[in-house]
Amino acid sequence: MNASPDTPTCEIVTIGSELLLGQILDTNTGYLARKLGRLGVATRFRTSVGDRLEEIGQVIRSAVERCDMVITTGGLGPTLDDLTREAVARAAGVELELKEELIEQIEAYFARIGYRMPENNRRQAYVPAGSEVIHNPVGTAPCFVAEVDATPVICLPGVPRELSYLWDREIAPWIRERFGLSDQQVTYRVLKVVGLSESRVDALISDLMGVGKNPELGLLASSGEIKVRITATARGDTDADRLIRPVEEEIRSRLGNKIFGIDDETLEGVIDSLLLGKGMTLCILETFTAGLAAQRMYRIPATQLLDSRVIPDRERLLRLLEEPAWSVHAQSATSLAHKAKEMAQVDVALSILGFPENNEPSTGMQAVAAVVGDGFAKEFSWQMGGDFRAFQERGTVIGLNTLRLALLASA
Ligand code: AMP
Ligand code: MG
Repeated sequence: MNASPDTPTCEIVTIGSELLLGQILDTNTGYLARKLGRLGVATRFRTSVGDRLEEIGQVIRSAVERCDMVITTGGLGPTLDDLTREAVARAAGVELELKEELIEQIEAYFARIGYRMPENNRRQAYVPAGSEVIHNPVGTAPCFVAEVDATPVICLPGVPRELSYLWDREIAPWIRERFGLSDQQVTYRVLKVVGLSESRVDALISDLMGVGKNPELGLLASSGEIKVRITATARGDTDADRLIRPVEEEIRSRLGNKIFGIDDETLEGVIDSLLLGKGMTLCILETFTAGLAAQRMYRIPATQLLDSRVIPDRERLLRLLEEPAWSVHAQSATSLAHKAKEMAQVDVALSILGFPENNEPSTGMQAVAAVVGDGFAKEFSWQMGGDFRAFQERGTVIGLNTLRLALLASA
């Protein structure tokens, strides 16, 4: 987000040597950054640090200098390598202090799950003196907010499930209150586009963009898809929707059916719903995309894709087509789709056809996608440059999009 001068800033600090060793993936940072964004807090830095007292302290000290708040996750467990409490106390220049209420809370937690509190869990009842304790009913790790140079350092558990439980009930309200964010929230809607380049999308909607506008527009391109993100800051969902809707309608009128879905929708999900709605089954026959298009469809539980096949080799393809001479042209793709439809006994077939030039893989390649259904058909040819992985990714998206457009156009 583009923060206005009074937008509070945050540094997210994830603590745990396992993060630095690459043994677990840091999902907490992304989670918190998204949640903070919705609250109207700008994440400015993300830092990961191992279970080392001195280094955690260094990170906390530099974080409080450059941000309005710091959120840490991890290192709150009962074992000796859980050092967040100690490191934050040192950064704040205070001692650890025992909180009787925390002992009770931890004992109560163990009682609920049918155990006696192990002795080393007493460690968790110590927090930096003067901290505000945050009740954590879902785990043993008590959380707290310590003040380091008048900057709140919010220390949260590493376990993602505990983190998300506490966020909604305790942390978000706490931050709102402390920074006077009232009920302003940031709401996104993402329009997903295929079949246009990023620069083309930019040219079509750039007059709607502008820093500081509400809603604000952003573009993000990844593997053949463009995301147009509409970000509104408003008091609640209804107000946010009122801001977003007219902009969304304007963009839809300009980009038309190049927009395939919103938010979490995927190309394969949209295609599967279209097929399901029409009661149609699908088969996919692929060459250079090596099954990637089929794989995406197979992510949908009980997909309408009933059959798929990969033919990476020209000779086999020729035999299947029963054609003496062959080249990548629309005709071949269509006759291949016909064959596939017949063999698999399905309602629709998609073929994605092309072979990279072995000698010079970076010179580009010609490809064709064809769709054949009962009473409808569609072909699309294109030329692409880049490396083989890029060919495959683009071919997959273009192939699936050709199918989507054919389904939309069919009665
Ligand atoms: P800790 O509080 O450091 O003992 O962390 C408890 C557990 O939470 C770890 O063993 C991980 O499985 C998980 N965890 C800790 N930090 C993260 C993180 N940044 N992202 C995802 N999971 C984490
Ligand atoms: Mg740890």
